[in-house]
Amino acid sequence: MTVSEIRSQFLSFFESKGHKIVPSAPMVVKNDPTLMFTNAGMNQFKDFILGNAVPDNRRVANSQKCLRVSGKHNDLEEVGVDTYHHTMFEMLGNWSFGDYFKEEAISWAWELLTGVYKIPVDRLYVTVFQGDEADGVPVDAESIEIWKKYIAADRIIPASKKDNFWEMGDTGPCGPCTEIHVDLRSDSDRNKIDGKTLVNADHPQVIEIWNNVFMEFNRMANGSLVLLPEKHVDTGMGLERLAVALQGKTSNYDIDLFQSLIQKMETISDVKYGVNEPTDIALRVIADHVRAIAFSITDGQLPSNTGAGYVIRRILRRAVRYGYQTLNLKEPFLCELSTKLADVMGDAFPELRAQQELVYKVIKEEELSFFRTLEQGIKRIEMLMQNVKSKGELIISGSDAFELYDTYGFPLDLTSLIARENGLSIDEKAFETELNKQKDRSRAATALETDDWVILREDTVEEFIGYDHLVTTVHLVKYRKV
Ligand code: ATP
Ligand code: MG
Ligand code: MG
Ligand code: MG
Repeated sequence: MTVSEIRSQFLSFFESKGHKIVPSAPMVVKNDPTLMFTNAGMNQFKDFILGNAVPDNRRVANSQKCLRVSGKHNDLEEVGVDTYHHTMFEMLGNWSFGDYFKEEAISWAWELLTGVYKIPVDRLYVTVFQGDEADGVPVDAESIEIWKKYIAADRIIPASKKDNFWEMGDTGPCGPCTEIHVDLRSDSDRNKIDGKTLVNADHPQVIEIWNNVFMEFNRMANGSLVLLPEKHVDTGMGLERLAVALQGKTSNYDIDLFQSLIQKMETISDVKYGVNEPTDIALRVIADHVRAIAFSITDGQLPSNTGAGYVIRRILRRAVRYGYQTLNLKEPFLCELSTKLADVMGDAFPELRAQQELVYKVIKEEELSFFRTLEQGIKRIEMLMQNVKSKGELIISGSDAFELYDTYGFPLDLTSLIARENGLSIDEKAFETELNKQKDRSRAATALETDDWVILREDTVEEFIGYDHLVTTVHLVKYRKV
């Protein structure tokens, strides 16, 4: 079953259970100061859960584009190194806003996984919230009882508050979750369990696929819990991880979607996948990052020097560096890969096809501009690292990291990554100090030079840097003082 078929089956299954299928919200969040990127399916439904708005439908389902590279969920360092964390991924979800609750959610999850997708029962485990006495939260006995109808008791694993209790913040809706894990090890390895049950904390091939959150409490300011008048279900399942289980693979990068991207990269770079670990990591990182970058651009977020735009630029430069240093690519390649991506994912996300030309142009420009300084930057960092090592030290100074950032366009996390690959680290605090000093300098300069102009949207002004030929899509906004 292809990724597209798996996605459609999920949606039609929940449609058959009375759910309205709604579109993915944009991955780039424009109207929420607390969140830069959508990191879970429920983000767009926050107001229904908080009771600030009434939903048209009490049952909805969708596939949500998510990005986990900042804030509470930051999986960037995992990507390419493990085989199941992405920057951008699709989260399949079903929701009940004050409608069905644990009984239906669990039984449908089970019906879908074992009845429709036909995952063998002996490959599945579930975790349930074990309660937390100190915090006054009870064990989720109800979910345990429901699960016992479907799965052997020794496959129902008690789990702590850290993983299996969801809270929106210090106060507000919260409740236990139950998570479903799939065991991807070979049959012979699976028989070696010796009675010990595993979840992904224990083994890299026993992977969490689906989280079902049951919001039933409201946390009050004094820390106590009261029952919510309306209970909600919020679930999230990683489409790519589900595809791994259904396609009999052990890595997300072996599913059809990623294989298409990796094969395109093999052609571009003349490097084979599956031959050696460093080039494999590079191919995986690039196949992952191109999705984050292309989806951000189609959602209206161009790479830039501030905020969400800088997050995208960092991801892009990280991918380019892997291509340049590990795959020996000296010309733009991500832009070519973005064309392939539009082919592969354009049916489910038409914006990729509709904006393909823009995506290609923006990525190519970014690549060209970064390629111009990359070689010198890499020479410079190699020299710096040699100096540090020759002194018997392990840390690259903040001012050196700042020079790489300022002169060579190396984002801090790229410098950190290269340092880490060489057994070194960065003095990040000192880097921050240098960065703040520069901001102060430029603020002072702006105040002098723009005497009768007030810049109300500083971020968009900075966004303009390096994009002067793209004036139609990037706006330089200055306002005359009145
Ligand atoms: P993990 O423990 O593996 O990091 P999580 O507990 O952070 O996952 P949830 O917040 O529960 O993940 O999200 C719901 C589902 O989304 C997960 O069960 C998983 O299938 C998927 N998912 C989460 N993070 C990623 C990621 N970085 N890449 C791909 N899929 C992911
Ligand atoms: Mg996580
Ligand atoms: Mg988890
Ligand atoms: Mg989880």
